[in-house]
Amino acid sequence: MTSSFSNLSLAEPLARAVAEMGYESMTPIQAQAIPVVLTGQDVMGAAQTGTGKTAAFSLPLLQRLLKHESSSTSPARHPVRALVLLPTRELADQVAQQIALYAKYTKLRSTVVFGGMDMKPQTIELKKGVEVLVATPGRLLDHIEAKNAVLNQVEYVVLDEADRMLDIGFLPDLQRILSYLPKQRTTLLFSATFSPEIKRLAGSYLQNPITIEVARPNETASTVEQRFYSANDDDKRRAIHQVLKTRGLKQAFIFVNSKLGCARLARSLEREGLKTAALHGDKSQDERLKALEAFKSGEVDLLVCTDVAARGLDIKDVPAVFNFDVPFNAEDYVHRIGRTGRAGASGLAVTLVSGSDARLVADIEKLIKKKIELEAIEYEEDQPKGRINDGRRAWREAGETGDGRDAIVSAPRRERERDHRGGREPREQHRGFRPAVASRDPFFEKPYEASVAPDAAPAWEAAKTAPRSSVSANIKPKRKVAALFKAVQPEASTQ
Ligand code: AMP
Repeated sequence: MTSSFSNLSLAEPLARAVAEMGYESMTPIQAQAIPVVLTGQDVMGAAQTGTGKTAAFSLPLLQRLLKHESSSTSPARHPVRALVLLPTRELADQVAQQIALYAKYTKLRSTVVFGGMDMKPQTIELKKGVEVLVATPGRLLDHIEAKNAVLNQVEYVVLDEADRMLDIGFLPDLQRILSYLPKQRTTLLFSATFSPEIKRLAGSYLQNPITIEVARPNETASTVEQRFYSANDDDKRRAIHQVLKTRGLKQAFIFVNSKLGCARLARSLEREGLKTAALHGDKSQDERLKALEAFKSGEVDLLVCTDVAARGLDIKDVPAVFNFDVPFNAEDYVHRIGRTGRAGASGLAVTLVSGSDARLVADIEKLIKKKIELEAIEYEEDQPKGRINDGRRAWREAGETGDGRDAIVSAPRRERERDHRGGREPREQHRGFRPAVASRDPFFEKPYEASVAPDAAPAWEAAKTAPRSSVSANIKPKRKVAALFKAVQPEASTQ
């Protein structure tokens, strides 16, 4: 199989757009999927974000749609021919931007619709007529109900990040949307993993799909250095400062398990002098896109995010990912650390592990099939000390347990799903925990705002010069996870 785009016989407008993107050769998912999609067969693709899967489905799809190109201004000449469904607004926006770039020299039109934004401008675009419609399921249903989107001429449907769409609870919406589409069509399903639910979905909606797997599901990139540091909850921010400084890191993603934790951590880090933005599902669409842009432009150094908000974000060259909270689902660990070490670049993934995380770490160990060594951090004196119970007090004020986590994981599933259906677009939904309850802390009633001047240098760079070579000088000898957890094992069953 060739890896050069030039051997694909892409139509000139598409080849020109690809050349302009600077792609030299196809990624593995592209090399495998593009020829198959060009034949019009259904595809079930296992590919993680960052593998180039957007081009893998959109280039052949655009190629096949070229026969419908029309310069007519009549909307009737531009019916929706391809529908791309994604779980989150950011992801939809990102994929739509990529498709627009690939299609820029064609007469094919594309647009994106997602929740959290005024429907009117979206309606105007839809009414003008578009061949490629990128959408999140909830908002698409709103447009279908309002008769803004007619899907009876759809030839291609792409279910991207399908596993996450199911996690979020979009299955009923997907079923409804698929029921509006012609039976005769090509269906492409992409998912990071092929869980039994995904296989069931594929069994119901795909016809003799060709299975394409570019990397073993749940495989972590070998270019990512994975470190697990022992840190109690009150020391975790200090640990972040220490690692940023010791490693001379410029930017990082910091993952947390809840929206409330996300906002709180971003606020704390900002207070401690780090240029930080928060990305979670309770932010307005505008705020989320702004946070993303600020990170991309380097105006912000740390992006604190929840899993759903960060899934699939196309931000390259993030040198490090922190797991401030160990994820509740081991698969999320793989997704999180996939933000770094992309496209062959080396990356660092730091997971901060407290005593009650034993079971979660054991799950990760099982999934990635690698022995996890838990290490200790020795702190330099000038790192901010943990501001004890800064967060816990807020939890108590909000009527939650001190930890917050117990309350989150014990919530009944139907409560989470009711939230989906009621709000149409999912708020921060996640298998394994429910959305955080409303806080009485007034801070959480208003959006997080960065307060540091955009052009200031990263705070940790201003601190005294740190050894750049490795963290090893500050790390005590490695100890086996099991040994470290032995004493706290009974507390470990938080889920
Ligand atoms: P995706 O997995 O589709 O989100 O793509 C991740 C990133 O890889 C995007 O920024 C694409 O522009 C980029 N990309 C896609 N295909 C290629 C390629 N063949 N060569 C280099 N970069 C690519």
